[in-house]
Amino acid sequence: MQDHKKFIRETFKNAKESADRGDYPHGALIVCDDKIISRGYEWLKSKNDAVNGHAEIDAIRKAQKTLGQPYLKGCTLYSAAEPCPMCASAAFWAKIDTVVWSTSREDMIEEMDKKKDGNFSWRQIAISADEIFKKGIGHEIKTIPGVLREEGKKLFDLPT
Ligand SMILES: [Zn+2]
Repeated sequence: MQDHKKFIRETFKNAKESADRGDYPHGALIVCDDKIISRGYEWLKSKNDAVNGHAEIDAIRKAQKTLGQPYLKGCTLYSAAEPCPMCASAAFWAKIDTVVWSTSREDMIEEMDKKKDGNFSWRQIAISADEIFKKGIGHEIKTIPGVLREEGKKLFDLPT
């Protein structure tokens, strides 16, 4: 069985690297056959890209390029935080097998509430990754939420 904690810790490293250059503290990985195929970073601010700048999209695109194929069957997407509806949909279109994440959408919303008087500008769409996957027709995705959640929450405190 794949060591989910080990790979989630790797997404935290990517999140920290993203934060170090001033982007949001998110990170993702694609793992196939227990091997890291790609590392996804958050690029929103540094590349002025609010769409492809999401770490999960970055990881999926890089894995497709590395493997030379559009579909990532049997592969796992690891994310430091629950994927947004766009990234969850991307995992569905790429036929990813399993999605594993640390902090939940609710954790992020709670954090947004705590920081709403500052210049914290995260936005959320109120659809969970599981809701997206349940509505997918023709491909099923397994999910493992909440891996190292308390450690994951510490990423919210990184300055960006
Ligand atoms: Zn996203």
